Amino acid sequence: MKVMYRSTRDNSLNLTASQAILKGLSEDGGLFVPDNLPPFDKSMEEFSRMDYQTIAYEVMKLLLGDFTEEELKSCIRNAYGSGFDTELLAPLHHVGNASYLELFHGPTIAFKDMALQILPHLLVTSARKNDVKDEIVILTATSGDTGKAAMEGFADVEGTRIVVFYPKGGVSKVQELQMVTQRGKNVKVVGIKGNFDEAQTGVKQIFSDRELEEKMQKQGFRFSSANSINIGRLVPQIVYYVYSYATLLKHGRISKGEKINIVVPTGNFGNILAACYAKNMGLPVSKLICASNENKVLFDFFETGVYDRKNREFKLTSSPSMDILISSNLERLIYHIAGNDDKRTKELMRALTDGGVYEITPQMREGLKDFCAGYATEEETAFEIRQVYNDASYITDTHTAVAGAVYRKYVNATGDKETKTVIASTASPYKFAKSVMSAIDPAYGGMDDFELIDELEKISNVKTPAAVESIRNAEVLHNNVCEVSQMKGAVIDFLK
Ligand SMILES: *Cc1c(COP(=O)(O)O)cnc(C)c1O
Repeated sequence: MKVMYRSTRDNSLNLTASQAILKGLSEDGGLFVPDNLPPFDKSMEEFSRMDYQTIAYEVMKLLLGDFTEEELKSCIRNAYGSGFDTELLAPLHHVGNASYLELFHGPTIAFKDMALQILPHLLVTSARKNDVKDEIVILTATSGDTGKAAMEGFADVEGTRIVVFYPKGGVSKVQELQMVTQRGKNVKVVGIKGNFDEAQTGVKQIFSDRELEEKMQKQGFRFSSANSINIGRLVPQIVYYVYSYATLLKHGRISKGEKINIVVPTGNFGNILAACYAKNMGLPVSKLICASNENKVLFDFFETGVYDRKNREFKLTSSPSMDILISSNLERLIYHIAGNDDKRTKELMRALTDGGVYEITPQMREGLKDFCAGYATEEETAFEIRQVYNDASYITDTHTAVAGAVYRKYVNATGDKETKTVIASTASPYKFAKSVMSAIDPAYGGMDDFELIDELEKISNVKTPAAVESIRNAEVLHNNVCEVSQMKGAVIDFLK
C-alpha cells in the first residue's frame, strides 16, 4: 500500500508524495504528513553492506511511493555525487562512545545539503509527473544555512526561481557572504529587518495568500517551499540516520539489534523529526536527545508540556541556525502524539498563533517518552568546543557543540555512558570560525573572520573547504534589505 499524505490540520486530504512535494505547505496552513510509516524492508545487516546512495533508494522508495524506481534512482544519482568532498558522503568521527555524524561535506558545508541537493530533482520530477507546466517559485526563510543550500541546489535549474529571506545581522559572516555572492539568473536574496521567526511567518503568510496565488497562477507561477516544512526535505534526512547505524554495525562498533542514542542540535525540529521517523520505521534507537541553545523553547516544552514562545526573549547566539522560537516541524510531532488528530492539532496551532502558547494533555506527553531534551548556554557551548579540542584534537562547530554539551549533561544526569551515541554534526567549524576559535582561545578574539579561517586550518589539520575559499574574494551580487511587511512586495517585484 502506497503512503499517501494528509495535512496535520486536515485528515481528509489525500495527496501523493509528488503532489505534497509540489505544494510544500498545505492550504490550511498545516504540514503534510505520511498516513503511515512503513517498516524498512531491508535488515540493518543488509543496509550495512550498501553505500549511501543505495540506502537512500531503499529508504526513500518507502515514502515516495509514486516515484518510479528509475525516477528516484536518477534523482539520487544527480544529488549525491561530485558535489560532496568525500565518497562516504556522511563519515563518522568517533570520540569514545560518541560518534559525530559529519553531515557537512556537501557544497555549502552544512547538513542542509543532505536534503537540498536532492530536493530540486524531486521537485522537477514531481512537476513532470503531475503535468505542471508553471514555473516553480521557491520561497525560503533561512536562519543562515538553508538559504545558501537551497540556492546552491536550485541555481539555474530550468523551470524554477528562488527567493531567500534571511535575518540581516542574525547570521555569521561566512553564512551571509555565501548568500550574497550567490550566482544564478533565477535567484534573489533579501535581508529582512527582523529575526528568523518573522521571516518564516512572513513566508507562510505568502503561501496562504489565496489572492496572490491566483494572480501568480495567471502569470504561470506556482509557489513551493525549500524549508523543512516540505516533506521532500524530511524524507532524505531519514537516510543518514540509517546510514550511521549501518556504518557502526559494519565496523563492529555495535552488534546486531543494539540500540543507539541520537543527539540532534535542534532549531526547526526537522532534523530530529527525521530521526524519530527512522526510529518508527525500525531503526534501533533508545533515546532521541533534542539539544537547544539558549532559545530553549523546546527544552521547556519537553519538560513541562507547555509550548510558550510568548514569555521569552529571542536571543542571538553563536549557533544562529538554531535561533528559532517557532519550531515548525514540532507540529508534525504534535499531530502524531495526538493520535493523528487533525482537529486537536489545528486548535493547538491556533492557540500558538493567537496567544503564543499551548499546552498538551498528559496523554499526549506519554507519546514523548522516546525523547530527552537539554540545552546549552553560550559558556557551556564554548567550553565544549575547547574540551573536545583539548581531549580529542577534534574541532566541532558551535551547533554541534551545543549537541555535544547536551550529551555530556545527559550522561552526567543519567549515568548512561555505555549506549553508543550518534551526534548529528550539522556544520563545518569553518562556517563559524570566529566563535569556534575564540572558544578555543580567547586570544583569537581580535582577528577578522578570514584570518581566523587560516588559523583554524593550522590547528585542525583539516583543509579549508572550497566553499569558504570561493567566497574569500567573491563579488557581492545581492544587497537588498527590506522590512518584514515588505516581503510580499519583494516577491512580486522579483516575478515581474
Ligand atoms: C538548520 C540547522 C540546525 C537545526 O536543524 P533543524 O532541522 O531546523 O532542527 C542545526 N544546525 C545547523 C548548522 C543548521 O544549519
